Amino acid sequence: MAENCIFCRIVKEEIPSTKVYESDEFIAFTDINPAAPVHLLVVPKRHIPRLSDATPDDEGLLGRLLLAVGEVVRKNNIDDYRLIINDGPGAGQTVFHLHAHILSGRQLGEKLL
Ligand code: 5GP
Ligand code: ZN
Repeated sequence: MAENCIFCRIVKEEIPSTKVYESDEFIAFTDINPAAPVHLLVVPKRHIPRLSDATPDDEGLLGRLLLAVGEVVRKNNIDDYRLIINDGPGAGQTVFHLHAHILSGRQLGEKLL
């Protein structure tokens, strides 16, 4: 738990969110400013500021994060989707609590790679 972290406050339900999935370790909820018809955020309950702050101790958590994405898409009947993790301000990260974006529901044509 980090003071004044929006996502820690969402995890603690101090700030409301539209939850679509919850487990011991993760929650998923709809993005407040969606960039696609389906825009979900999958968030570890533990506060890790950004992906590159993760250490080998976080290996299990990072693996389970991707498995949680699979659970979220299955439970919400999401077919094809794009998964994005912004790591740092230069990549567009604005909330410094690790999270993965699930984007779907429109043709995601613009490929960066
Ligand atoms: P980032 O830019 O850090 O990768 O993504 C942060 C995301 O969190 C943005 O897409 C933004 O719209 C979303 N967001 C920021 N504050 C809130 C909030 O209070 N509630 C919800 N549901 N989403 C938020
Ligand atoms: Zn946090």
